[in-house]
Amino acid sequence: MSRTARASSSAAEVALPASFARLGLATPADLLLYFPLRYEDDTHLTPLADLVPGQSVQVQGRVIAVHARPRPRQQLTVTLDDGTAGLTLRFLHVWPGQAGRMAVGTLIRASGEVRASLAGFEMVHPRWRTVTADEPLPDSLTPVYPVAAGISQSLVRRHVARVLATDPLVDTLPEDLLAELALAGFADSVRFLHCPSADARNAELTDRSHPAWRRIKFDELLAQQLALRQSRQQRRLRGAPALVGGTLTQRLLEQLPFALTVAQQRVWVEIQRDLASPYPMHRLLQGDVGSGKTVIAALAAAASLDAGYQAAFMAPTELLAEQHWRKLQEWFAPLGVAVGWLAGSQARRERQAVMDALRTGELMLVAGTHALFQNEVAFADLGLAVIDEQHRFGVAQRLALRNKGGSPHQLMMSATPIPRTLAMSYHADLDVSVIDELPPGRSPVKTRLIGDARRGQVVTWVGEQCRAGVQAYWVCPLIEESETLQLKTAIETHASLQVALPDCRIGLLHGRMRPADKVAVMADFAGGRLDLLVATTVIEVGVDVPNASLMIIEHAERMGLAQLHQLRGRVGRGSVASICVLLFCEPLSELARARLKVIWESNDGFHIAREDLRLRGPGELLGSRQSGVPLLRFADPEQDMDLLALASRAAERMLQACPTNALAHLARWYGERQTYGQT
Ligand code: ADP
Ligand code: MG
Repeated sequence: MSRTARASSSAAEVALPASFARLGLATPADLLLYFPLRYEDDTHLTPLADLVPGQSVQVQGRVIAVHARPRPRQQLTVTLDDGTAGLTLRFLHVWPGQAGRMAVGTLIRASGEVRASLAGFEMVHPRWRTVTADEPLPDSLTPVYPVAAGISQSLVRRHVARVLATDPLVDTLPEDLLAELALAGFADSVRFLHCPSADARNAELTDRSHPAWRRIKFDELLAQQLALRQSRQQRRLRGAPALVGGTLTQRLLEQLPFALTVAQQRVWVEIQRDLASPYPMHRLLQGDVGSGKTVIAALAAAASLDAGYQAAFMAPTELLAEQHWRKLQEWFAPLGVAVGWLAGSQARRERQAVMDALRTGELMLVAGTHALFQNEVAFADLGLAVIDEQHRFGVAQRLALRNKGGSPHQLMMSATPIPRTLAMSYHADLDVSVIDELPPGRSPVKTRLIGDARRGQVVTWVGEQCRAGVQAYWVCPLIEESETLQLKTAIETHASLQVALPDCRIGLLHGRMRPADKVAVMADFAGGRLDLLVATTVIEVGVDVPNASLMIIEHAERMGLAQLHQLRGRVGRGSVASICVLLFCEPLSELARARLKVIWESNDGFHIAREDLRLRGPGELLGSRQSGVPLLRFADPEQDMDLLALASRAAERMLQACPTNALAHLARWYGERQTYGQT
């Protein structure tokens, strides 16, 4: 593996039109990887006598009649004849001079979909141009590129052709690896995808199963694997304190009112091993809602304190951070450890006091929101940062954390389970632990789908349940367009339920409330002083009131799968059988129907995540736009699982055996852009 790969340097000499920046194309070499969306087959002509309605074909004939009608509605019809039969071309938008270009006698080549009309076969708005009688047919398929306004297909095609002619198309894979993987060559694949021969089966091109596509998808996955591995390697070069648990960790374990599940014990072993090593842990702890991630994070924090380093718990919302704070106090106060609280809404003086204590090291453990990331917050010796619901934090915020002196160990937690293949692809720079078991004694939540027409009955039934001692959530619909409207709905729902159920104690919780008020309402609900809690989706994340066993979700059809699963996870936390009622309004879109079916059928977060991925694509699931992990344009980790496995192994090997090739490959796919690498 000695060959030095220098990817596409000569092509970089001629610049691209400035407008190409809008297509995300910075250098000529980028064009090589800018593949067509589809192809048009202009390699042969269909005789007009053989036309079949519904088919897309290319035809050629001489104009025998032209009718231009300027008004009431502009229309141009041109009749062609090729000696076998006739065909009408119909234009509803006409440019000045068009009729003149299509005068009787002109030879025209046109392609489009044939349809039957009263007057015989026609094409509406075909692609067309005038040709000479001896104009040859192309011998390759015509690529159709993704373009933007003001950038024509022919402009892109011209520049692609130029780059293909000048770029050396160096293969970044070393020869032995290439042979072993039995993949097509880079140059052949790129040339083929930009102008496939006429006999290429278009189906293989469209579904991207052609060997040339497989090579490109492999390369893309390889680039991603290399980038993520590289960032992992770089992390290993940074030092971090070795955190080995001691008496505090032991006492915390002993004092828990429950025993860890087998899954919790397993991930705790994995985390302990990371914490004890001298470089920063970046571990993602995944576990379905209610699987008990918090206590594992608390143990890790205890280990940090045992080693003499501080620990910080971060959550994306104040409500959730608050709950962590309470939980931590419940666990740590009996052990004589104070837990600090830091949030944006806090009074200045109070916050200053906490910040001072963190700087001096007087305070060892703190919970809070992203206020913890702020510049003015400095730690004496931060050993561990716990980041709950990690996908809600941006990469910038995590970077800010790293700059807080040293490189603390990071434990990220997520209740949005990511299927294995996706994790392997997008999280290759993280280590992943999974809690795949719920604590014992939970009874699964029963889910009911009820049409909104029966809302009145549901209200009456909820009243009966509350009178019988059940605590319930009533979740107001998500109104994406307007937070104000959502607020209004919540207030109105609260008022109307109070009228309908005068003997129930009903609270209200929404995002616009003062944090202290939110906390007070949550405390009332947790303490059993409220029967029913009307809430917006602010309760989606992390709320933990084990006694609540009933949830009504209005307009469930508007919510995403992950959100519904998270919401439903707020009940079924105690031993009582829980029920989740999804109220929905007809008519349902196909997507909404599919989502409700999934959530009704399954309680399994991993199954739901897989379905979510299928229905929605990976972007949102990963929150990748903000995580900074490069998204895939061509490969699909689920469908191309075999390639992903190959790419993962190849990346490992290339970084060891031929780093020059690895760098050339990274440069080809990412250029100077540093879109990859999580902190
Ligand atoms: P999540 O993984 O959704 O963050 P939590 O950490 O909030 O879940 O845990 C949910 C509830 O289960 C909490 O009340 C927690 O104290 C409790 N819990 C955690 N682990 C166990 C266990 N092993 N046995 C019993 N209850 C547990
Ligand atoms: Mg949680």
